[in-house]
Amino acid sequence: MAETRHDAPEVSAVDSDRPPRVIPDQQSGLSTTNATDAEITTTVLAAVDRQLEHAIDLLGHLIAIPSTGGSEAEAEIQHVLAEILFSDGFDVDLWALDLPDLTSQPDFPGMEVTRREAFGLVAVLPGIAPELGLSLLVNGHADVVPAGDPNSWSGDPFTMRREEREGRETLLGRGTCDMKSGLVASIVAARALNSVGVKLAGDLMIAPVIGEEDGGLGTYALMRRGITADACLIPEPTDLDLIPANAGALTFRLRIPGRATHASRRTEGISAIENFNLVNAALVELETRRNSAVDPMMSRWPIAYPLSIGTIQAGDWASTVPDLLIAEGRYGVALGETAADARAELETTIDEINASDAFLRAHPVTLEWWGGQFEPGVSGDDYLIDLTRRSHFVAAPNRRRLEVYGAPYGSDLRLIAPHMPVVQYGPGDARSAHSPDESIAVADLLSSMRAMALIYLEHCHIV
Ligand SMILES: [Zn+2]
Repeated sequence: MAETRHDAPEVSAVDSDRPPRVIPDQQSGLSTTNATDAEITTTVLAAVDRQLEHAIDLLGHLIAIPSTGGSEAEAEIQHVLAEILFSDGFDVDLWALDLPDLTSQPDFPGMEVTRREAFGLVAVLPGIAPELGLSLLVNGHADVVPAGDPNSWSGDPFTMRREEREGRETLLGRGTCDMKSGLVASIVAARALNSVGVKLAGDLMIAPVIGEEDGGLGTYALMRRGITADACLIPEPTDLDLIPANAGALTFRLRIPGRATHASRRTEGISAIENFNLVNAALVELETRRNSAVDPMMSRWPIAYPLSIGTIQAGDWASTVPDLLIAEGRYGVALGETAADARAELETTIDEINASDAFLRAHPVTLEWWGGQFEPGVSGDDYLIDLTRRSHFVAAPNRRRLEVYGAPYGSDLRLIAPHMPVVQYGPGDARSAHSPDESIAVADLLSSMRAMALIYLEHCHIV
C-alpha cells in the first residue's frame, strides 16, 4: 500500500478546554512546571521509543500462550496479563466468570466453543482527579483463533519470529496482528508514561478480555460487571485507521433435506446437494439485494454485508443420493439494522424457497441461529474520533493519513457502544488476521504505542 506523507502535524497533546496542567517537580523526565505541550510530547514519545524492545519481548511472551477460545491457555493468559499489569502499578481485578448465569441471559451474545472456566480482568491505574470525568478504558481481546494447518505456516505459529518481510521488519505468529500487539501497545504505552513520571488525572483502565472471537463473552461480562469509562479505545488491527462502526454478523445453520436412493437410480431420489443449489442461488440474490445501497461509511467494501457459507456436510456414501445437507454460514447485518430484522429477512427467503418447491413444501429447509450473534455497532463520537486522529498524526508523522470508515466484521465494539463512546484504532492489517503467517510490522507496533501514549496524555490529562 502506498504511503503518502501528510502535512507536518500540529503538536498538541492537550485540549484547551480542559483543566490547566501542572507538572510536578519530581525526579522524572518532566521536571519543570513550565513544560510546554511540545516538550511533554517529545519526552513521552522518546520514552515510548525506548520501550520498543520490551514491547517485542512482551509480545513474544503472549504469543507463546496459545490462547484459543475454550483452551486452558485462554484462562492462563488472563492470569499472566493480571500479573504483568499488577507489576506495572495497576490495581487488578481478576474474577472467574459465572458462565451458567451469563450464558442464560436473554441478550447473551453467543459462544461457539465449550468453556469450563473463563476469567474477567480489568486493571486500573487510578487517576489523581477521577471526578473530572477523564477516564479511559482500553478493551482488547486476549483470545486468538486456532492456527489451522501448521504446514501452511513457515514456522511454529506459537513461537514468535522476527523477520524482514517486504522490506519491513516483521513479527510473525498467531495473535501478532489480532490482537496481542494492540494489547501490548496499551500496556507499554502506560509503562512509558510511568517511566517519565507522568501522573494522569483520569483513571486509565486496561481490560483484556476472552471470547471475542466466538461471540464476545468477555466484554459482555465486563459490561455486566458495571465497568465503564468516559471513553473506550479498542486496539483491534485497523491498520492504524479509525473505525467507529462495525457491521453485525450472525452465525446460522441450514438443514436441507433430500431423499436417499442408489446413485444408479438417482432420478428416483432427491439430492440434498441439488436442493442446496436452489437455496444458495436465493442466498446470493439476497446478498446482492442487501448490498445494493449501503451506508457511506461502508462504501469502500466490495460487499459490505457478506452472506457466506463456511461449512457444508452432506451424504455418507459415494454411491448414495444424499438425504441431508447441513450448511453453516455467516450473515452480515447492516449498520442501522437490528439483528432481528436481518434474521427476519433470511427467514423469509428460506420460507419462499420452501414454498416454491413441491418436495421442500413437505420437507422444509430449516434455519437455526447459533453461535456468535453480533449486532452492528456505531459509536459516532466526534471527540474520540478527533482525539485519535490528532494523536495518530503526531505519533506517526510519516504514515499515510488516517482514514475513518466502518468495518464489515462484528466485534466487541457493539457491546461497548451502548455504554460509552468507543472507537477501534490499532496496529496490523486485518487481512493478516486469522491467516497463516499472521504478522505485524514492528514500525506499526511502535506507531500504535506512540499514539496510545498520546491518547492517554490528552484524554486522561496529566496533573
Ligand atoms: Zn480481533
